[in-house]
Formats: sequence, C-alpha cells, structure tokens
Amino acid sequence: MDLPTSPAEAPRQRPQLPSWTLSVVDAFDVTPTMRRVLLTTDHIADFSYKPGQDIVFLLPLETGELGRRHYTIRHLDRATGTIAVDFVMHGDTLGPRFARNAKPGDTVEVRGPRGRVLFQPEADWHLLTGDETCIPAILHIVETMPAQARAFVFIEVQDESWQQPFETSAQATVEWIHRGAIPAGPSSVMLDRLSAFALPDGRGQALIIGETSNVRAQRHHLITRGFGRDQIASEGYWRPGRDGGHDHVDD
Ligand SMILES: Cc1cc2nc3c(=O)[nH]c(=O)nc-3n(C[C@H](O)[C@H](O)[C@H](O)COP(=O)(O)OP(=O)(O)OC[C@H]3O[C@@H](n4cnc5c(N)ncnc54)[C@H](O)[C@@H]3O)c2cc1C
Repeated sequence: MDLPTSPAEAPRQRPQLPSWTLSVVDAFDVTPTMRRVLLTTDHIADFSYKPGQDIVFLLPLETGELGRRHYTIRHLDRATGTIAVDFVMHGDTLGPRFARNAKPGDTVEVRGPRGRVLFQPEADWHLLTGDETCIPAILHIVETMPAQARAFVFIEVQDESWQQPFETSAQATVEWIHRGAIPAGPSSVMLDRLSAFALPDGRGQALIIGETSNVRAQRHHLITRGFGRDQIASEGYWRPGRDGGHDHVDD
C-alpha cells in the first residue's frame, strides 16, 4: 500500500469535537422555507463558539446508523440559555425532517462547535457571499461585526420570501440576489454578481460559502482579480448528490 509521503498528501483527520446532548425547547418558521429550532443543554454555561461556527447533528438514518449534518449556530441567548439553529426546508431529508418533527423535550446528539470560516477583524473591508444555507452564518457574523467594520454582503435566495431582517452596527450593505426560476445549486448567479462588484481599495477579506461548485468558481474568480489565497476563507456547505458533510475548497 502506498503511504502518504508529505503532509499535503496525508488524509485529513476528523477533529475530536466536544459532544453535547441538546434538548428541543421550541420550533417555529422564521420564513416560509426556514425553520428555527431552539435547543438547550444543562451545560449551556460551558458552550462557547464564534459567529459562523456550526455544530454537527447526529440524526438517525433508516439503516439505524447516524447521519452527520452540519448546521450553523444562528444565535446563543445566554439569558434564556437557548441555541437557535435555522434549517432550510429544501426537501424530505434528514435535517428538514428533524426540524419539522422537533417538539419540546426531544433530545439530539451534536458535536462541535467547529469551523474556520470566521470574521477576520484586521481586514480593511469584508466580502461575504452565500446561498440560503449560509443565511445563519452570514447574518450572525454581520450582526456581531464591530461598528468600524466595512462589509459587502451578497446572499443568493430564490425570492423575497427568503429574506430576513437583521440589525448591525457595522457599515454593512446586504444585497439579496433572487435567482427566481433557476434551481438552488450550481449556477453562475453569484459569480455574475461578483464579477460586477468593484473591489474597494485596501486589503479585503472574503468569506465564500454555499454550494461547493459555486464556492470554487468564486474563489478562483477572486484569485484572478488579485486576491491571495490567505484572503479567502471558503467552504462548500452542500452539493447535489452529497449527503451531509462539507467540502474543503482550498485550491
Ligand atoms: C459548516 C456548515 C454549516 C451549515 N449551516 C447550515 C444552516 O445553518 N442551515 C441549513 O439549512 N444548512 C446548513 N448547511 C448545509 C446543510 O448541512 C446541507 O444542506 C445538508 O446536506 C442538509 O442535510 P439534509 O439532510 O437536508 O440533506 P442530505 O441528506 O445531506 O442531502 C440529500 C440531497 O439533498 C441535496 N441538498 C442538500 N442540501 C440542499 C439544499 N440546501 N438545497 C437543495 N438541495 C440540497 C443534496 O445535495 C442531496 O442530493 C451547512 C453546511 C455546512 C458544511
């Protein structure tokens, strides 16, 4: 058997993440296609994370095994001790099924928090792009940015019904891009908008998340426009045909 010869070739090790048993406190629709589940734990005081990080839900598959599904921490309310998680209700799949059926007292095992796609305060300006699965990460980051931060945010959704209100003290402009009849997934919708975006002066930092092929296309586009790889944090949140997990997009 060929063994990896360099760190670049070595398989990535899945990090050991803290385990939590969370109980459902409430579940309701935030918009017609996004359902929020409020969760808590007896150890909520020990639960710390950074905006943009996610937790991995272990949800029962029909085979009896557990499927791993990543969901962002939308908000942690220390006063009520609840963690909010927003589920895109895209179909009758594991994640949406959990959110649809969740009722107070149900318990679920999760691992985390995890994730490196985070706000980098030292940049002169910030670019954030993503689709509907990224609304929780992007809005949480925008809401917690410091007042002096300058951010340009593009969120791709089907139509206006997906849009959510948010508050921020940062100098952030959020543009909701409607893809209309184009289905969610691989398309040039975000790339076209990004191509028309005039890069501001100074050192920018980009956070590019969403469907994997769209993320990769935008990353490569920014590199051709002079971005260094270290100026782009990117991660594939989903892709057609892939169940759960996430994609590293580092090339
Ligand atoms: C770090 C991270 C954070 C994430 N945060 C969130 C979050 O806060 N909220 C959220 O809703 N999602 C989030 N996602 C995306 C979510 O994990 C995936 O969409 C996941 O596949 C959903 O699981 P599922 O059980 O619904 O579908 P799966 O069983 O995983 O997939 C079944 C089929 O549905 C397709 N599919 C999966 N997701 C979508 C979609 N959104 N639209 C259309 N087709 C899809 C798959 O490609 C596959 O063909 C995040 C992903 C990552 C990696």
